[in-house]
Amino acid sequence: MIYTDTRDKSVKTTFKNAVMSGMNQATGGLYIPVEFPKLDSSFLEKDPSPSFRDIAFNMAKPFVEGEIPDEDLAAIIQDAYPFSPKLTPLDSTTYVLELFHGPTCAFKDFGARFMARTMSYFNKSEGTPLHILVATSGDTGSAVGSAFHGVPGLDVTILYPEGKISKIQEKQLSTFTGNVRALKVKGTFDDCQKLVKTAFTDEDLRKTLRLSSANSINIARLLPQSFYYMYASLLVKNRAKLDNKITDPAIVMVVPSGNFGNLTSGLIAKEMGAPIAGFTAATNSNRTIPDWIATGNYNARPSVETLANAMDVGTPSNYERISAIYNLEDVRKMFASYWTDNEGIVNAIKNCFDKTGYIIDPHGAIGYQAWDDIKNGGMERLINGDKPDYTKPGLTANIPEWAGKVPSKESIGVILETASPAKFGQTVVDAIGREPPIPQRLEEVMRLPDMAVPMENDYQQFKAWLLANLEK
Ligand SMILES: *Cc1c(COP(=O)(O)O)cnc(C)c1O
Repeated sequence: MIYTDTRDKSVKTTFKNAVMSGMNQATGGLYIPVEFPKLDSSFLEKDPSPSFRDIAFNMAKPFVEGEIPDEDLAAIIQDAYPFSPKLTPLDSTTYVLELFHGPTCAFKDFGARFMARTMSYFNKSEGTPLHILVATSGDTGSAVGSAFHGVPGLDVTILYPEGKISKIQEKQLSTFTGNVRALKVKGTFDDCQKLVKTAFTDEDLRKTLRLSSANSINIARLLPQSFYYMYASLLVKNRAKLDNKITDPAIVMVVPSGNFGNLTSGLIAKEMGAPIAGFTAATNSNRTIPDWIATGNYNARPSVETLANAMDVGTPSNYERISAIYNLEDVRKMFASYWTDNEGIVNAIKNCFDKTGYIIDPHGAIGYQAWDDIKNGGMERLINGDKPDYTKPGLTANIPEWAGKVPSKESIGVILETASPAKFGQTVVDAIGREPPIPQRLEEVMRLPDMAVPMENDYQQFKAWLLANLEK
């Protein structure tokens, strides 16, 4: 596969280079494959549908062709995914796709574990460590730290905004030792991301340290997230005839979004033949993308803090990829969009629990509420000409191509549950008055000592710390 750059389509590079460098330093652009090959129809039409690992192997294969032999790829997939996504029905036209069964209880394990193993594969021949810098608004850091921990030749430094992530999230990323460490920055997620981006463009620093990224801009995190969209859509399509009594459903993936890496992965799955009719982009008050869809103006802004803090992103990096592949009209044909504020998040957790008995986390809850609104008259009102004010919480005024299948109950929503509710226990308690069950792997991490290093939001201080503390 040839990879190109969102800012300069004349760029041509390998998977290895795209993975190891993270982004194109020369242009500031992000890497994307030049094409998204469709899977064979014989594979897509299997009933029962293929296993998650089978899908992962077949989807990854064209993207690493000529660079990772099949045998090694199969070993990477096997090692990366000892767990699977789980699809749970909520009602006759709604499923939850649980993506939190990996080691850190959030969907980012899917991308981070594949990336760690491909980087380790490509780094085998190098004599010096590769330093991964990660900015996190919550779950990236722990997923990346966990995925790289103990991997030889690789070294990880995590930056997170002090006081702006939950206690469990902080424990999960600040308790590593050895080749993984965390810096708590006095600033926002965007400040952390800026420190990392500045480091990547700092020629002087790069003369001394080999740097790479691991946040959702890395193509090796984005590609594997497409596997579970394929998995879920094939499973739902096969089950719809029996479970839902719908022969040709419009399958809508409802994606709680911040940096829009997850949703971009869904677009890749659709390009590769996943039976997905479209998407619902669900955000918190950081509504840059819903505003873009509603008004046509893309207006990046500083992030604001919310209860769904892993989505507190005002300048979503993957807008760059989405807009390099699609124009606004394509996006409007595929996407519904929805946003809500903190009050809406708490109400959504309660509403989901009251209606279905399912305990959902604050991120997934926004997706739940978006779909609940869409199927309970929201989409029909848009079809009938309603033009809601996009500055108020709710659905934004855009009618995707699949909208007509909502009133006739031929559409099925698949809500991506991006984290375990146990990671956001207090918000869940505030909403429903009871604690979500805590997985044992979370309980264990709470007992470890905190090792995070305090850091000002100041590039020179950050750079000096890197030069003094990282192995050259
Ligand atoms: C990272 C994260 C998101 C947002 O995903 P993006 O790819 O940044 O859009 C949503 N929910 C949770 C729990 C996350 O950790």
